[in-house]
Amino acid sequence: MAHVNENYGKLPGSYLFSEIARRTAAFAAKHPDADLIRMGIGDVTRPLAPAVIEAMHRAVDDLAAAETFRGYGPEQGYAFLREAIAQDDFAARGVSVDADEIFISDGAKSDCGNIGDIFSVDNVIAVCDPVYPVYVDANAMAGRAGDYDEASQRWENIVYMPTTAENGFCPALPEVPVDIIYLCSPNNPTGTVLTRDQLQAWVDYANECGAVIMFDAAYERFIVDADVPHSIYEVPGAETCAIEFRSFSKTAGFTGARCGYTVVPRALVRGGASLRDMWNRRQCTKFNGASYVIQRGAEAIYTPEGAHQVDEAIAYYRANARLIKEGLEAAGYTVYGAVNSPYIWCKTPEGMGSWEFFDRLLNEAAIITTPGAGFGPAGEGYVRLTAFGERADAERAMERIRALG
Ligand SMILES: *Cc1c(COP(=O)(O)O)cnc(C)c1O
Repeated sequence: MAHVNENYGKLPGSYLFSEIARRTAAFAAKHPDADLIRMGIGDVTRPLAPAVIEAMHRAVDDLAAAETFRGYGPEQGYAFLREAIAQDDFAARGVSVDADEIFISDGAKSDCGNIGDIFSVDNVIAVCDPVYPVYVDANAMAGRAGDYDEASQRWENIVYMPTTAENGFCPALPEVPVDIIYLCSPNNPTGTVLTRDQLQAWVDYANECGAVIMFDAAYERFIVDADVPHSIYEVPGAETCAIEFRSFSKTAGFTGARCGYTVVPRALVRGGASLRDMWNRRQCTKFNGASYVIQRGAEAIYTPEGAHQVDEAIAYYRANARLIKEGLEAAGYTVYGAVNSPYIWCKTPEGMGSWEFFDRLLNEAAIITTPGAGFGPAGEGYVRLTAFGERADAERAMERIRALG
């Protein structure tokens, strides 16, 4: 008889988005004419850049003729894309990353989840709290989390690092030994960033104790502040302790098209093994490469025309974020994030819980947000708003919030 992976049975239900949907449906049933504004979505809404679309069309035509047809591509991704990435995302920032340290994939979520394949089950995992849930659940599925405790909403073997206004949204170095540390900057859900100095402390810590940092840079293109690194490899020493995940989803509108990449430096060695070679082996065995058409589309982001068009979409979201931040502040709220990120992390009014504030915005302003508590216990007391919607909706939402008083 087949035995299932019993770790799946320990996973708590994905309560957050189903509960938001339930409360929203209940409100809509009671107020069928209500004009709901959705500010909870973590998905882009602007179309793909014209240069990307044209490149994808040309790639489809390549597949239509015997002379230009492509079958299986390299598991690591095509050289044309890896070399463009090495040049524009790294060399142009003074960082040396070789094309053969770059692995193209169908997105960062898969890579963040799959990277665990090359690590043993007994590693101690550290995550920020609040956190992007994929890091936690993927490790729980692999058996690295132990049992889930409903009361504390925590896994017994995971080390949680509170990341709140009290510590400036920079987690303190753990007091117990940890082996694998997940960091995300610009952060989902808080919209805050880690500066060069803050990241340097983490890199030094990891190199000292042999830990590995999983650095999620999915929102890299939103960075405007000069002291915030776009890549962890801008920080000296990172090449011997960090793996970096990148995604074209939020930065270039690829949430539906699907493409991202992971960097595993050759200098990253643990237990005598090259993590780059292990990841290469893992990908060659379990992955047959991202689509040729999509990789051609991603390559177009690195043309001057494509880069300019992608930056226009980012500027649109950035202006929304600013409008939301200023609107909330004008209404008397304390907000974080929004500057280097499409996320606005809003403190609830004095003493009000995340869900209570969510309900208030839903019932009194018909605005849907995401309760911070859904991202971890330390997210209690905040809600997340996103800048990924339409400008007009952001404007109307802020008018309603102002009217609420
Ligand atoms: C959206 C997101 C990703 C990207 O996932 P894709 O699979 O590339 O779409 C990765 N990390 C974080 C923190 C995200 O919010």
